[in-house]
Amino acid sequence: MPISSGRSMKYVDEYRDPDLIRQAAAEIRRLAAGDRHFRIMEVCGGHTHAFYRFALEDLLPPNVELIHGPGCPVCVLPMGRVDAGLSLAIDHGVILATFGDVMRVPGAGGTPLQHVARGVDVRIVYSPLDALELARRNPARHVVFFAIGFETTAPSTALTILRARELGVGNFSVLSNHVTIVPAIKAVLDSPGMRIDGFLGPGHVSTVIGCRPYEFIARHYGKPLVVSGFEPADLLQAMAMLLRQLHDGRAEVENQYRRAVAEDGNAAALRALSEVFELRAFFEWRGLGFITHSALCIKPEFAQWDAERRFDVPPVVTADPVAAQCGEVLKGVLKPHQCKLFGRECTPERPVGALMVSSEGACAAYHAHALRSGRADAGIVEEIGT
Ligand code: SF4
Repeated sequence: MPISSGRSMKYVDEYRDPDLIRQAAAEIRRLAAGDRHFRIMEVCGGHTHAFYRFALEDLLPPNVELIHGPGCPVCVLPMGRVDAGLSLAIDHGVILATFGDVMRVPGAGGTPLQHVARGVDVRIVYSPLDALELARRNPARHVVFFAIGFETTAPSTALTILRARELGVGNFSVLSNHVTIVPAIKAVLDSPGMRIDGFLGPGHVSTVIGCRPYEFIARHYGKPLVVSGFEPADLLQAMAMLLRQLHDGRAEVENQYRRAVAEDGNAAALRALSEVFELRAFFEWRGLGFITHSALCIKPEFAQWDAERRFDVPPVVTADPVAAQCGEVLKGVLKPHQCKLFGRECTPERPVGALMVSSEGACAAYHAHALRSGRADAGIVEEIGT
């Protein structure tokens, strides 16, 4: 498929070219023709967001079903970790610094934002380096950076810890909630009753880890995976590549996002990760439960910058609200609008579950799509929530 026609080098325009999108959609319809039903998981929350932002699901034939995967870091953050972070600010008087999305993730006693209204010192930062700078400007206070994200953001946390060591900043530490994508995909594949025909592989994570870590999916599970970019033509081309493999009876790892993803990933980022982090024995994922070797903790030699060690943070397990069906949505068992709370008790303004918080969350993406198509105003968010 000629992604770059040569008539213009405006990247975004090219990847949103209506002719290209029509061609890709026609190819998908041709490859999906017949009675077979295809269940394709887009692993990455950014892909979920793009599918709904550009209304790409409307271009897929009805027998190609999207299953939204666990690749939204805010969505898989369990409530207990939010509570553990807040307890550092409440019980130890630290400044808790984190990304804006985390501010609206509910813990047992409310969101970090609600705690701010009660006088708890939680602040938004745009990068871990901002949190380090906050510590340097507040030498009388301890600053804990509440770190979340997959391998995409973990290197910047690792580099910040290395920087803190280099500068000798002693009033700064990190509460690491970094997770790794491959064990989560494996957990999905091992879920009883899970039927997935193929995967759209995550674009951002793959810029760091490359394509090779996915090879077991093709080899051991016989499922194809295509790493995809985020523009409409990217996603439709990647979908066509997946369907072509299924059509031909192949299961391989392919890379549609070659302009950003190298087969072996980013060596400098991987080096920083392995210098600072090691795998935890197990970690709780919202909706997926405890998964072994699926998250990153800070190595003992950096204990001074590890909030868990410095403050002896106990493991906190907080159950989700009983009516929330985030787990079923994260595992692809339910569509977001099939959750009993969708569009009623749970909205982007008043999220009950984390999937409604981040723009990459499947529930937030569905809700925004319903609003854009005018259905929410017409009460159809109510209707599809039934
Ligand atoms: S609608 Fe809310 S409670 Fe239901 S699955 Fe989505 S985020 Fe969770």
